[in-house]
Amino acid sequence: MRGVIRSTVAHVDLAALQANFKAIQEFLKAGPADPKGLRRSVPRVIAVVKANAYGHGSERVALALEAAGADLLACADIEEAIVLRRAGVRAPILVFGALSVSDLDGLFEFSLTPTISTPSAVRAVQGAAGRHKKAIGYHLKIDTGMNRLGFRHDNLRRTLPELLASNTLRLEAIYTHFATADEPDTPYFDQQRQNFETALTVIDELRGGEKRPSIHAANSAATLRDSRVWYDMVRPGLLLYGIVPPPLASSIPLTPVMSLTSRVVAVKGVRPGEGVGYGFRFKTDTPVTTAVIPAGYADGIDLRVSGRCQVLIRGRRVPIVGAVSMDMMMVDVSDLEEVSPGDEVVIIGRQGDESWQQIDAREMAAAIGTIPWEIVCRIGSRIERQYES
Ligand SMILES: *Cc1c(COP(=O)(O)O)cnc(C)c1O
Repeated sequence: MRGVIRSTVAHVDLAALQANFKAIQEFLKAGPADPKGLRRSVPRVIAVVKANAYGHGSERVALALEAAGADLLACADIEEAIVLRRAGVRAPILVFGALSVSDLDGLFEFSLTPTISTPSAVRAVQGAAGRHKKAIGYHLKIDTGMNRLGFRHDNLRRTLPELLASNTLRLEAIYTHFATADEPDTPYFDQQRQNFETALTVIDELRGGEKRPSIHAANSAATLRDSRVWYDMVRPGLLLYGIVPPPLASSIPLTPVMSLTSRVVAVKGVRPGEGVGYGFRFKTDTPVTTAVIPAGYADGIDLRVSGRCQVLIRGRRVPIVGAVSMDMMMVDVSDLEEVSPGDEVVIIGRQGDESWQQIDAREMAAAIGTIPWEIVCRIGSRIERQYES
């Protein structure tokens, strides 16, 4: 369909994505030696493409990552993973989520790798393996303190023997997930790391000294923070998309993968004493010029951006004013010499080479009191993703 692309577009730079993936690999390659010898070689990267690849479009993103050398991808659930298989992804796909209430046939029909994180999942996957007359490899999830999914780290001797004895379920990896990897000042991260290492020793014992499978634990923040938790693989999501989890800093050369642009559709003069938009949330006592942008909360623009965030027009920052509506928002362009319908608007991304000519998801998140993961995941489904490579 020609000519039906709306003027608000999410540009997804697949070359930047691939470069980020490789930059993370280089960072791991250059990392410090493993003091305890827990790591066998340079850690592999599990490329996390859940939630429609953090809003970037999981099919194109997964294929681009696979082309860049990603040999293991991860999704939240079976349904997401099936979308990737149907798009032609051939690399192994790990499913993070709990499986007990899903249709498990998909695991076998689409060659997916489940996470087993509860006793009920053991029985469910075992039952499905029986029906399909196939063994299946799985990753075992240990809850080391987050109290979300996983077998509790402190009673594995009671909960794991049934699973480890299965001859249809083949243990490929053991992992955990950190609750506070992005909070440098709490002791919980290190507690979880120690709980995990104790759990690994217990599992070694339970398995009678059989060779340890692969071990992984680190999301983006943990990868940046502590090479001791790299183990055999790391699981970055946010970093792949070129965003560093706040408040951490990183020396990895990353480029934001997504930018969100639009065009001015109308320019208006507002007189002193008048209000703008629903509820007159913006009122002026001087003459102002506003521009209308065809992107609103239905496109994932958070209501809280009003009065807190800016967009770029003609290389300048201008404030978002008045209530964000479903399909539109307004900006105050009084400081610009000239603005016309058709002018490019950058909501996320850059418009010029100066540092202030860039607005990233991390800045927007900080301004409205949320996290950058939410900013990118929320970009609405009616916004066209345009892929550039
Ligand atoms: C989402 C997720 C990740 C990736 O997290 P980032 O913070 O985006 O790097 C890693 N592991 C698990 C289990 C996840 O659910």
